[in-house]
Amino acid sequence: MPRDYILALDQGTTSSRALLFDREGHQIGIEQREFSQHFPEDGWVEHDANQIWATQSAVAVEVLSRNQMDAEDIAAIGIANQRETTVLWHRTTGQPLHRAIVWQDRRTAGICQNLRSAGLEAKFQEKTGLRLDPYFSGTKLKWLLDNVPGARAQAERGEIAFGTIDSWILWNLTRGRIHKTDSTNASRTLLYNIHDGQWDAELLSILNIPETVLPEVHPSGHFFGEAARAGLEGIPVAAMAGDQQAALFGQACFAPGQAKNTYGTGCFLLRPIGSKPSPSRHNLLTTLACTTSDHLAYATEGSVFIGGAVIQWLRDSLGLLKDASQSAALAQSVPDSGGIHIVPAFSGLGAPHWDPEARGTLCGITRGTSAAHLVRAALEAIAFQSADVLRAMDADHGIPLAELRVDGGASRNDFLMQFQSNLMQVPVLRPEITETTALGVAYLAGLTTGFWKDPSTLVQQWRVEKRFEPMISADQADTLSDGWRRALHATKAWSEK
Ligand code: ADP
Repeated sequence: MPRDYILALDQGTTSSRALLFDREGHQIGIEQREFSQHFPEDGWVEHDANQIWATQSAVAVEVLSRNQMDAEDIAAIGIANQRETTVLWHRTTGQPLHRAIVWQDRRTAGICQNLRSAGLEAKFQEKTGLRLDPYFSGTKLKWLLDNVPGARAQAERGEIAFGTIDSWILWNLTRGRIHKTDSTNASRTLLYNIHDGQWDAELLSILNIPETVLPEVHPSGHFFGEAARAGLEGIPVAAMAGDQQAALFGQACFAPGQAKNTYGTGCFLLRPIGSKPSPSRHNLLTTLACTTSDHLAYATEGSVFIGGAVIQWLRDSLGLLKDASQSAALAQSVPDSGGIHIVPAFSGLGAPHWDPEARGTLCGITRGTSAAHLVRAALEAIAFQSADVLRAMDADHGIPLAELRVDGGASRNDFLMQFQSNLMQVPVLRPEITETTALGVAYLAGLTTGFWKDPSTLVQQWRVEKRFEPMISADQADTLSDGWRRALHATKAWSEK
């Protein structure tokens, strides 16, 4: 029987999903299950790793049965995962030693501050392309080893395993036989040297992490092992990748002038930069991109903390909208934002500003300011913040952006996409399949197993649903950006005590 489908597992922050793709790259099935979020203390966020596996394996089996398939119909599995979330488990029992510490968790801010005070930020940045921030896995792993009773001694004896969620899913899929990760996930740990593609002995020693806990690292497209769970037996696991890098691949962004932006709760922007990991001079991250070979490829990355979430705020806290989808029509009911700007720095500003103390501001209000102006200014703020990251990417690499490929919930908003195109003066392309994370690992798994022959097939399969071209002049775009810059200035002035 021909194996005509790829199964993509998309293990996200709030839900576990499983999707099926056929040979033409069409999405033909999807199942999803949410799981619990735990907030044991202010700034702490945890997931139950067993529940992550239970929901992920359940949707994987369900999507097959709902589409009248079994394991023999599937050519390969690809796994995409929420990045940086950290799990520590016993190698013999397979049981986690603690709940998983989620990427959003800030408990290790003190560890990061101590490392910074010791003058170590430049070293970490140079070797890993990252900043010393609790976001990344390394300090979370250190916290677990230091705080879970007995963990460090067991680690020294080689009894426990560390992994990001990709490794945890793989371990469980293979019934504890395989402990591996891929290089995109490794590159988010603060422990992995992105220049030579190795765990870095010096950084491990600074964070006091024994090598015995670490998974083996491979390219994202690689034969990682064979599934051994009921309903999935014998399917090769042929790809693993962090969700944002998977999305970059799923958007078929391979050329240096291309970038992708995922407009979800926040915005995640990535742009391929080729085979040289040039460090950012404009406060962005350098990270590994997906490959199917041992040749390393790099991407530059910047995140906006509040993207679509500003629309949730207008809906849930201000009651200006019943549904996020009403925002486009309301914004278009006025010719412009009436001179107002919203800077939604609700929990500080992300790249390229990195100002944790910043708080939201609303500038330029008059008696004429209406709800429509507020909604329009909020949508424009999503685009302005994304443009700040894209300009930093241009400044770092000297190659101007040629086109922006988009996905995520808020990319459905035509007004926002048109405004983004106007502002950046480049085409904005929205694909037919916006499940680009799952599509990315499906592509990688398909290339690895020969299901698809080469990446050019994928470039042809990637199809545009809608293309937005700039409709204002470069001068008009500059004038818009001047207003935003003044608003940012006001925001920063407010946060300076
Ligand atoms: P996540 O994966 O981060 O949970 P999604 O990709 O599902 O996010 O996108 C949800 C976000 O997009 C929400 O913050 C929501 O307010 C916003 N959103 C959804 N639809 C629209 C729309 N039509 N216009 C603007 N924002 C939207």
